Amino acid sequence: MSGFPNLPLIAKVTVLRGLGPARAAALQEAGIETLRDLLLGLPYRYVDRGELTPLGKLDTWGFEHGGGGFGPAEAREPITVLGTITDLRQAATRVRRMMITEVLLEDGSGSLRLLFFNQPWLAKSLKAGDRLLAWGPLSMGRAGLELRSPAFERFSKEDEGAWIKRFLPLYRRIGPLSSRVRAQVAQEALSRVDPEEWLPLELRKELPGPLEALRHLHQPPEDADPQALAAGLSPAHQRMAAEELFAFALGISLRRAGRLQRRGRVVPTSPELRERLRAYLPFPLTGAQRRAFKEIVGDLTSGRVMHRLLQGDVGSGKTLVAFLSLAMVAETGGQGAFLVPTEVLARQHAQSLSRYLGGEGGRLQVLLGGMKAAEKRAALARIASGEAAYVVGTHALFQEAVAFQDLRLAVVDEQHRFGVKQREALKEKGGDPHFLVMSATPIPRSLALSLFGDLEQSVLDELPPGRQPIKTHLVDPDHAERAWERVRRELAEGRQAYVVSPSIDPTDEGKVQLRDIQAMEALLRGIFPDTPLEVVHGRLKADEMTARMQRFVRGEAKLLVATTVIEVGVDVPNATVMVVDHAERFGLSQLHQLRGRVGRGAHASHFVMISGSETERLRILVQTQDGFRIAQKDLELRGPGEFFGTRQSGVPQFQVADLVRDRRLLERCREAAERALAAGLTEAQQAWLQREQVRLKLAEVG
Ligand code: ADP
Ligand code: MG
Repeated sequence: MSGFPNLPLIAKVTVLRGLGPARAAALQEAGIETLRDLLLGLPYRYVDRGELTPLGKLDTWGFEHGGGGFGPAEAREPITVLGTITDLRQAATRVRRMMITEVLLEDGSGSLRLLFFNQPWLAKSLKAGDRLLAWGPLSMGRAGLELRSPAFERFSKEDEGAWIKRFLPLYRRIGPLSSRVRAQVAQEALSRVDPEEWLPLELRKELPGPLEALRHLHQPPEDADPQALAAGLSPAHQRMAAEELFAFALGISLRRAGRLQRRGRVVPTSPELRERLRAYLPFPLTGAQRRAFKEIVGDLTSGRVMHRLLQGDVGSGKTLVAFLSLAMVAETGGQGAFLVPTEVLARQHAQSLSRYLGGEGGRLQVLLGGMKAAEKRAALARIASGEAAYVVGTHALFQEAVAFQDLRLAVVDEQHRFGVKQREALKEKGGDPHFLVMSATPIPRSLALSLFGDLEQSVLDELPPGRQPIKTHLVDPDHAERAWERVRRELAEGRQAYVVSPSIDPTDEGKVQLRDIQAMEALLRGIFPDTPLEVVHGRLKADEMTARMQRFVRGEAKLLVATTVIEVGVDVPNATVMVVDHAERFGLSQLHQLRGRVGRGAHASHFVMISGSETERLRILVQTQDGFRIAQKDLELRGPGEFFGTRQSGVPQFQVADLVRDRRLLERCREAAERALAAGLTEAQQAWLQREQVRLKLAEVG
């Protein structure tokens, strides 16, 4: 191909000849501006010619034996077929008014029916004579074998040439750029680009160079390993993933280095201070708590700004460590803020803190959004004067009206519920306060590294003594009576119970959720007519919610029916059983967090999940109570984006790298980044890094 060779990866895609204005515009709209963007848009699948099944050789084994029925489609390996459409018809079913498109595919050796449901437009876009590549699991229909709703790619005449190679890369269509066109454009780009080598030797020594890797990924050679290609584990994939992860790791290390240069307020310590702090403690610290606090003291006395993540399993006693840190600041003349996501939690933390503080409780101030005007005014005045040394509050703390006299430490509980801007706002309120962020759920190491890699970490890997393991049960909806029986027994012993009811239809949170929980309330009032019961859900006003929760906390209500609003931190030691309906609607970490609401007192506790599906996944909770293991499993099953259950969790978006699959590589990149920084980056590396950072939108934490 002609044109200027040796283009850098940052050259604009418009230099390519295969791109007219329409195609270029479509790419731009998809965020593809440079050759780098283009070439990192990898095929979503590689079809191996060798894996095509001739239609005459389709296997009916397993369908004709074994009970006559056909098993669940997912259980079958998908097959890939290629043929010509010889017939296409569409009909509506009479019973369920479904539109069925039936396509007959032939390849000279045999034929196969493809069925599509409720996709009427297919009758227009496909026609007899088209060549179709289709894949999916085989099913047995009334008229024989068939593919139901398979994935497919259509070929035009010109596309036939694609099959001269063993592997056919398939790309997602972008506007007018079909898979085939994208492949062509990628080929042109590959013939003209000359990517620079950025990776340090230690990361690249077993990997192909950048151009070789990109060639491999866009046009796999005959001897490529199809399994490695499919899994994203080929050396070429690893090279591109390493580039992304190394850039990312450099960004994290740089930010950390920048912070370490900021001068932080020294919080002095002394034997007297230690003595006073010890006097506040209601019980001896666990070894893990002592270790974590020691690390925090190290930060606070270091003269640098602390940014530390405190991780620990549910119930490991993070609050007490947070309290000690706040007390250290308060006892030396400064102010500390304890930021929490909900009013219920704010009140509860305030209660714990004033219990620890005893006679010093007057130095504590709560600030909530729902406060009456006069009450709020008084609170603001106490914060501004410094009279309040311990300030516990919700988002209300970010308001402009809030001014501290001398804010030196901010503790953020459930950090992922707060945005970057909000934490920044808090920073504005103090010179440059120390930050201690806490996560309610254990975060798997790879995710913690990528989200909080620039923070120091302390891990509470030990539970306070005397905890009884929580007995976890999984019951089928047909046997829900067993769950209620457990609740009945605990109530008879004078204990309290939670019942959690999620919305059945997650697409319509508001109304449906209300209806579901009302149905649950009615059911429970029927089963337990004489038991005082409260219902809480996210649509209640804050003060009503708090009032209802408090009745349960004080023990006036024995049963609490709730949506997941109780997920966070609620501490009622007398509650010994929790029933979760439709447990399959929750992530494993979320369930583990819910489970942590029981087992907080001296009595044996029970956690009962009612569910008729996904029992294999849910059984992990029956098998282990180790939050870190559960979190890792959850991450593997749901992916980083869903892990926190919130969209704006700040998880970086990689194009090739995968935080679960490539977690070892990430760790190696972290170490390599530290060394590269120590040795000094080249100018070219710095320029490259800057561009990558913008693209990755580095998660800003603390
Ligand atoms: P989490 O880490 O989930 O936020 P909490 O801070 O709510 O856990 O602590 C859970 C429970 O353990 C609380 O009831 C708390 O009083 C208790 N606790 C914390 N530390 C200790 C300790 N060192 N010894 C005994 N109990 C403790
Ligand atoms: Mg907590």
